[in-house]
Amino acid sequence: MSTTHRHRADPKRTETRPFSGCITWPCNPAAHGGVCLIEHCKCGAWRAINSNAGQLETALWEPPAAVREVHR
Ligand SMILES: [Zn+2]
Ligand SMILES: [Zn+2]
Repeated sequence: MSTTHRHRADPKRTETRPFSGCITWPCNPAAHGGVCLIEHCKCGAWRAINSNAGQLETALWEPPAAVREVHR
């Protein structure tokens, strides 16, 4: 993966999970309490997005090696 690669979510692979806590800083408390979307890039990187009533809290992209943390 080159450093110029820009991660893009593959909509077909986006997972929807119940909200399970804050995922990033700065925090957007209004995005808490809804769902947590897990987006996957074709390169294997992923990121979490808390979504509630139109409010979003978007985490940074994580490298593929970190996937196990969220899938356990
Ligand atoms: Zn990527
Ligand atoms: Zn938060």
